[in-house]
Amino acid sequence: MHGGMAGAGWAPPQLEDFILTERLGSGTYATVFKGYRKRNVREVVAVKCVNKRSLNKASVENLLTEIEILKTIRHPHIVELKDFQWNKEYIYLIMEYCAGGDLSRFIHARRILPERVARIFLQQLACALKFLHDRNISHLDLKPQNILLSSLDKPYLKLADFGFAQHMSPRDEKHVLRGSPLYMAPEMVCSRQYDARVDLWSVGVILYEALFGRPPFASKSFSELEEKIRSNQPIETNLVMEAVEKDQAGDASAALSLYSKALEYFVPALRYEIDARRKEAIRSKVSQYISRAEQLKVLVSSNNKTLLQQGNPARDILKEMSKDKPRLYAALAVASAAVAKEEEGKDDSETLDLYQQSLGELLLMLAAEPAGRRKELLHAEIQTLMGRAEYLKEQIKRKESQLEAESMGKEGMMDSVRGSCTLQ
Ligand code: AMP
Repeated sequence: MHGGMAGAGWAPPQLEDFILTERLGSGTYATVFKGYRKRNVREVVAVKCVNKRSLNKASVENLLTEIEILKTIRHPHIVELKDFQWNKEYIYLIMEYCAGGDLSRFIHARRILPERVARIFLQQLACALKFLHDRNISHLDLKPQNILLSSLDKPYLKLADFGFAQHMSPRDEKHVLRGSPLYMAPEMVCSRQYDARVDLWSVGVILYEALFGRPPFASKSFSELEEKIRSNQPIETNLVMEAVEKDQAGDASAALSLYSKALEYFVPALRYEIDARRKEAIRSKVSQYISRAEQLKVLVSSNNKTLLQQGNPARDILKEMSKDKPRLYAALAVASAAVAKEEEGKDDSETLDLYQQSLGELLLMLAAEPAGRRKELLHAEIQTLMGRAEYLKEQIKRKESQLEAESMGKEGMMDSVRGSCTLQ
């Protein structure tokens, strides 16, 4: 923060035509405020205020490049520069307002993003990058903090902060280190000789962070980062590390669920890897995870059986209390049938259908049920059934992943490692 702008009691700068209100955040050399255009009540904008005193020669250049680039481009996934103004003290960039915060906050509030969301975001990002690269512009500081979201209801990515952007044709080579180390391409980190392709690396890191909740080479220092990027060690996912931790702590069901999730990522990785050595490394991991998941499954299902044998008095009481409501009674009977099937070992999609049917009905009943003991029991029963259905869904997915891995022509691999519990 420069020029004393960060102080708690600091008032927004005055700007003709605009009313500046809350502070949205601050970047390398500027503070950004929310604002309204005076003549048009509802036009909300974000105003980036740069105190001229805070600028050295390099940051003047960065700011001018940012203005020059943003002024000439318009794209649905690039934040729009509507106007810029200046006075004796400040330079103001008046930009389209993005109400959804930045992608970093969006990911971390959710821990990880579902693949379906990550895929859409990646398409939007690719679209913005293609547009920039067709115009020989490189962003050079792509990271989740610089990607804004138009809103939270219908998030639309908007690439922002062009402070490090450069005009670069595909063959141009540069040597100045720019951007944030965690998202920097290896050629920039290790040899400081790079070209326009470095943005693509950053996109890969961003995608990884969206799916796994942290960048692949998270490090405490620049040298640790350099070391990790140079090494040929495969990147361990959080999921596997968490699974191992749960496993060691004796929480078989959580460990099983985490291994199953991890396999969902590793099996496609196995399919797409073309390098023979890396393929073999992934294959060996997949087989280890599958074999440990198998052992855990036996453990979990024997624990579940013990629980089931103890019966479910709450469900029986609820059924007793529902005899006057045939629809509720029938839905509970479907739920009991689902549980019975699962108990018999039928962990397939038919059993899942039964769970889903009964849950659909029970949720409707719950909404209509007046407050009281029956509502409480029903609420608890729905939660139990949802937990079971969720677990069953994971089992089915895990089986599918396993079948897929098995059908990839490596029967021998399963036997060679079965029984091994070394998971790292
Ligand atoms: P920057 O200097 O561009 O990195 O911006 C600093 C912070 O201000 C960002 O991390 C956002 O939280 C916020 N911000 C920047 N531009 C906008 C905008 N157009 N709409 C909403 N918030 C913004």
